[in-house]
Amino acid sequence: MACKCINELPARIMEHCNQQKEYQAKPVLEASFKDVVFPIINGEMSVALKSNIELKVEGRKTPKKTVITFTYCPFCGVKYQEDV
Ligand SMILES: [Zn+2]
Repeated sequence: MACKCINELPARIMEHCNQQKEYQAKPVLEASFKDVVFPIINGEMSVALKSNIELKVEGRKTPKKTVITFTYCPFCGVKYQEDV
């Protein structure tokens, strides 16, 4: 794992939310990323964020759905994996 953002940010987000007036009466109990993938690179499991993409394709009535995995952490900019 190149950085610790995926593991550490949810706790910081939860802490930030719970400092806001909106969550004083009913605090956030847990935060987590929904778009986490665990690619296996060189036999080792890694962790990265992904995003769902919809492609409007000529001749298709519904968008084609696909997924991209981020190469760099969108929070700190560290590359998730070295070039292979
Ligand atoms: Zn990061």
